[in-house]
Amino acid sequence: MASATTRPAQQSAANSHSIAIGVLALQGDYAAHARAFSNSGVRTVLVRKPEELACLDGLVLPGGESTTMLKFLEQHEFFDALKNFASTTPTFATCAGVILLAREVLNPTQRSLGVLDATVERNAYGRQIDSAILTLPTKLPGGPLEMVFIRSPRITRVGPSVEVLARRDNFPTLVRQHYLLAATFHPEMTSDSRVQDLFLEMVRARRKR
Ligand code: GLN
Repeated sequence: MASATTRPAQQSAANSHSIAIGVLALQGDYAAHARAFSNSGVRTVLVRKPEELACLDGLVLPGGESTTMLKFLEQHEFFDALKNFASTTPTFATCAGVILLAREVLNPTQRSLGVLDATVERNAYGRQIDSAILTLPTKLPGGPLEMVFIRSPRITRVGPSVEVLARRDNFPTLVRQHYLLAATFHPEMTSDSRVQDLFLEMVRARRKR
């Protein structure tokens, strides 16, 4: 662990950090997530091996291609380690990450961690060309939220322990289940940090227990 000693950069990280957020960095837009959380002043760790999950306060599962991520996860017992982690520790999933997290995946069916009580349909809004940027209402304080959808999945069912924080055409786009936060869009691609802020609140609340 970095100590608050010599270099100013290290010092500011040590002061504000006490929190370490991992970003699964096997594939996809993990760099944008790491940047977004670094901008919020927390320490970020790129995670490429299961043992790197130890000592993290929270983890981001980024967007990308869920089938490719799954292939990497099925090596070196990473899948089970990640399932254990997401069952017990704050985890924030976007887009392909939501597909990994969900209990049921359709179009086509696909293995998943199964910790978020939801059914997810892959590529449900069409192809890359049908990607969209929409500003939609949300329960988050501060009014409507800009949402970037890129070959997004659609959440077609949520269980009773899942709170819906935003919708598109009546289908949930931002949901929370205890320490899990899942967005079918890409909050890391806008300058609005409200979704990341909520996740950091969840991480801090968990640490206080
Ligand atoms: N279409 C991708 C998948 O099915 C998800 C797209 C994304 O993460 N932006 O995995």
